Amino acid sequence: MYHEAIEKYLLGHGFDALRPRAVLFDMDGVLFDSMPNHARSWAQVCTEFGLEMSTEEAYLHEGRTGEATINILTRRHLHRDATPEEVQQLYEAKCRLFNACPEAPKMPGAEELLGRVKAAGLKIVVVTGSGQLSLLERLTTHYPGFFSPDLIVSSKDVRHGKPHPEPYLMGLQKAGVEPWEAIVVENAPLGVQAATAAHIFTVAVNTGPLQPATLTDAGADILFPSMQAFSDAWPQFFGEL
Ligand code: CA
Repeated sequence: MYHEAIEKYLLGHGFDALRPRAVLFDMDGVLFDSMPNHARSWAQVCTEFGLEMSTEEAYLHEGRTGEATINILTRRHLHRDATPEEVQQLYEAKCRLFNACPEAPKMPGAEELLGRVKAAGLKIVVVTGSGQLSLLERLTTHYPGFFSPDLIVSSKDVRHGKPHPEPYLMGLQKAGVEPWEAIVVENAPLGVQAATAAHIFTVAVNTGPLQPATLTDAGADILFPSMQAFSDAWPQFFGEL
């Protein structure tokens, strides 16, 4: 069932075999159901600053650095890049609003999938565009026993945010594996682009309001409607590798 997708990936990237030794998880929208809070905070703050943006659009920017997102909006509305002061003000306001939101719950199915991945003997890596310390701490609090600090890539570790491949290349490096020895789990089109640009087999989980085609068009090798669905499918998927 997954054989075809795997063959297509190998052919497209010029690899002989997919032999996973690590799974690289995105965080927001994959491990935590935090995207509704992020998207609403971004949309509200940008609109307050005169850079109108819908919540739907915020989902499409998911994975970009704050600065890159803000510059897209100032170019559209003001026909120029944002000043460093504007970026700082707006980003701080967004973080204040986000931190005032009720705590995002764990993504249903995520812990079960982590358990299956760990039982299969694969390394677990987190690759997130977030630099919020509180969120990184939440990983070890809510998912005890799965994460180690040296296998987390945050926005502080890279120069370029997604859709640039750098965050995922850094994830491979931290895990000590090659692209054909890893699998990425992503929920956002720009994250999928980043992972495929790093030549990693990319599983998209559509945990938000986007059309499924936005993820397959971005290059996802397989698509599941939820983390629970991927967890349910893991034994068969892993069996076909
Ligand atoms: Ca995400």
